[in-house]
Amino acid sequence: MESNQLLSVAEEFGCPLYVYDAAKIQSQYNRLTNAFSKVEKLRINYACKALSNLSVLKLLKKMGSGLDTVSIQEVQLGLHAGFSPDMIIYTPNGVSLDEIEEAATLGVQINIDNLSILEQFGAKHPNIPVCIRINPHVMAGGNSNISVGHIDSKFGISIHQLPHILRIVENTKMHINGIHMHTGSDILDIEVFLYAAEILFDTAKHFKDLDFLDFGSGFKVPYKKGDIETNVEEMGKKLTKRFLAFEKEYGRELTLAFEPGKFLVSESGYFLAKVNVVKQTTSTVFAGVDSGFNHLIRPMLYGSEHHIENISHPKGKERFYSVVGYICETDTFATNRRITEIKEGDILSFRNAGAYCFTMASNYNSRFKPAEVLWHEGKAHLIRQRETFDDILRNQVEVEL
Ligand SMILES: *Cc1c(COP(=O)(O)O)cnc(C)c1O
Repeated sequence: MESNQLLSVAEEFGCPLYVYDAAKIQSQYNRLTNAFSKVEKLRINYACKALSNLSVLKLLKKMGSGLDTVSIQEVQLGLHAGFSPDMIIYTPNGVSLDEIEEAATLGVQINIDNLSILEQFGAKHPNIPVCIRINPHVMAGGNSNISVGHIDSKFGISIHQLPHILRIVENTKMHINGIHMHTGSDILDIEVFLYAAEILFDTAKHFKDLDFLDFGSGFKVPYKKGDIETNVEEMGKKLTKRFLAFEKEYGRELTLAFEPGKFLVSESGYFLAKVNVVKQTTSTVFAGVDSGFNHLIRPMLYGSEHHIENISHPKGKERFYSVVGYICETDTFATNRRITEIKEGDILSFRNAGAYCFTMASNYNSRFKPAEVLWHEGKAHLIRQRETFDDILRNQVEVEL
């Protein structure tokens, strides 16, 4: 989106504000499906924990996407958005058998990632098809907070426990219809990913009744100019070739599934915040905005570097700023960032604010969560109202003491 479009949206709906560009979500979806156009049955399950606004879910549903969910509430949200149960996969970690049974009752694809639940579920519901999440033990990323395939990760069933998996399947006569891996965010190296894929193929050979292979996600998106991003096209070429060969070997057509979150929505998002104070200190110039890590926690949580632009004065002289929030503890969005000269009242736009931004927002400091807007075919649609004081009071029980 252009700065002047963002500015007009900010004027209409106020700050702080999340704005999502529908066209970017659509082009990312198309990019991925085009990269795998030679695969007969391709399934993209959008990992909705990245951005779970109903209008975004509906937009992706319209494109043919399925949904990857990690909680029973996300399953319910997906059903509410109109996804049919067979278009939803439920991939939780560390949840109770009860919750998995509840999801099964709703008819969605179950994906199990530990032996204990696999055994219990298989014994009780041998006829409900189940996908197994394996951990291939590869590190496909740079940041250990978000690489989930490695040896000490809590995700998936270790590939070394395959004999145990097979024993459970044989004893319970349960039906395994899919094999899944998700090696975590940030696939920097396609070769590492393909190596993990080989482990998935090897595992798949042990199961006779598979309908799909799910390769998870971890596509890396650029945060700033010059950042490396996953070469989806190259990956499409290489994995397609291997996948088609595997299908032949397996003797049956399979669905190839992915579950991207970040890749589909990260770059579509802009977080707009207004500068309340410009504060010159002896060491730096702070630009304090009308928001904080209660609305955008990624810089504080992961050290994410969201590119920041001054959309009120995009042509000014560049200076160095530390952009900080109003939360009463360390609350830094960026330090020593080159931004065009900031005046109080200016609006700053944070890029890559589509994934894991609003969904991680909280009411810390008793602040309202921001509103959300979807920019679709040249029009701004409010898709979530700004909260009000009633939202802060909701669910609180006042007792006489
Ligand atoms: C979070 C998650 C994803 C999405 O990861 P991205 O890096 O956002 O693409 C996919 N699959 C599972 C199981 C997840 O938990």
